[in-house]
Amino acid sequence: LSEAMSDISQTLSGKQRLTEKNIAKALKDVKRALIDADVNLQVTNGLVKRVRGKAVGTQVVAGVEPAQQFAKAMYDELVEVMGGDPGADEAMQTRFELEGKVILLCGLQGAGKTTAAAKLANYLKVEEKREPLLIAADVFRPAAADQLRILGSQIGVDVYVEDNCTDAVGIATRGVSTAGYDVYVVDTAGRQVVDDALMTELVDIRKAVSPDETLLVLDAMTGQDAASLCARFDSTCDLTGAVLTKLDGDSRGGAALSVRAVSGVPIKFVGVGEKLADLEPFYPARMASRILGMGDVVSLVEKAQKKVSDADAKAQMERMTAGQFTFEDYLAQTETLASMGNFAGVAKMMPGFSGIDASKIDAAELKAKRAKALIQSMTPKERRLPDLLIRDKTSISRMTRIGKGAGFDLRAAQTFIAEFQAMRTMMARMAAGPGASSPTKPPS
Ligand code: GDP
Ligand code: MG
Repeated sequence: LSEAMSDISQTLSGKQRLTEKNIAKALKDVKRALIDADVNLQVTNGLVKRVRGKAVGTQVVAGVEPAQQFAKAMYDELVEVMGGDPGADEAMQTRFELEGKVILLCGLQGAGKTTAAAKLANYLKVEEKREPLLIAADVFRPAAADQLRILGSQIGVDVYVEDNCTDAVGIATRGVSTAGYDVYVVDTAGRQVVDDALMTELVDIRKAVSPDETLLVLDAMTGQDAASLCARFDSTCDLTGAVLTKLDGDSRGGAALSVRAVSGVPIKFVGVGEKLADLEPFYPARMASRILGMGDVVSLVEKAQKKVSDADAKAQMERMTAGQFTFEDYLAQTETLASMGNFAGVAKMMPGFSGIDASKIDAAELKAKRAKALIQSMTPKERRLPDLLIRDKTSISRMTRIGKGAGFDLRAAQTFIAEFQAMRTMMARMAAGPGASSPTKPPS
């Protein structure tokens, strides 16, 4: 998806408004990328439809590229599909914390249950300062208990094991009634596929230990299959959440995007590596930027939206398209950019800019500074009426004064003003459509 997004940034460059027509190709690319990433088809279609609805007709905010604005619409939808932004809602934030005493893990063989059990115990101990006990209730695989014992010793967490016992329900029951701990993490057996034996065992264990959390461990590499599996487990085990493992091996997000939308089960944690510290709470917002691969575009757009009120942007846009874009507007725009942080920092957030070398960014920044100095050395009237500075005999003295006042020479002033006039003409031409030749004159 991140590749599709950088193509889109080229397709949309220079557009002033996102329309059905100019985003059609972008949406097609997005759809293909989502399907390639193994996102469930219904989820994909719903997503594309909502992004279209949101993006069409959107006025591009000053200081932001249309592709970025499109990316923002994409991002918002991705976050929504994965369960919304917990940051925006405090009630949701607490929902992502593990509550209660008994946490039961289930899932297919190899999904990463045993690893996740140890990671969770470590998380509870380190992040939540709790006293966990790991319980080895996988009697299906001979070495399972030893695996958990080793992992437990690595994180300094006790492990409840009954060697030579084949009664998983009994082990789980006795495990959770061991005194001296405030949270119990039960690791269970998996199978290659979902079968009756597995489901019966899980149902029985659930009855015996009444877990506060029943978490399904899912392998992210299985893409949308993870989502249908989740729906299936949920129907018999009443899941409270999912743990998505091996996310380090999958940046495309097929599973992450499909699970919640298909099964209704929230992803609560993600495994991002083989080490026991590689477990993170799941944040839809973080995951969405990761899937889009667009760095901080979203925060850039949000900052820009905050700085330029809609009314300002609209007025600016109208002047632009009427060929009345003034030096004052130019100044306001560059100041919007500057106020978003340092120029290089902002530039780096823009798609297509990440690979650009520092010297070019420095040059652009220098140019922006020079332009500002020149504009500030103009009279208020000149700033509002750029036609006073259209190059002819009478304007030479104005330009000389402006150049001098800004600490440059006549040529520097001429160069900048010529560029500005060319830009203004081009804007007006674009607005007037093909065939138009000259900008409308501003009222004088
Ligand atoms: P179980 O059969 O469900 O208990 O699966 P295990 O916990 O034994 O894990 C199976 C394999 O997946 C092991 O080799 C783990 O090291 C590996 N694994 C588990 N979680 C992750 C993860 O988040 N990232 C990576 N790279 N490997 C993982
Ligand atoms: Mg295991």
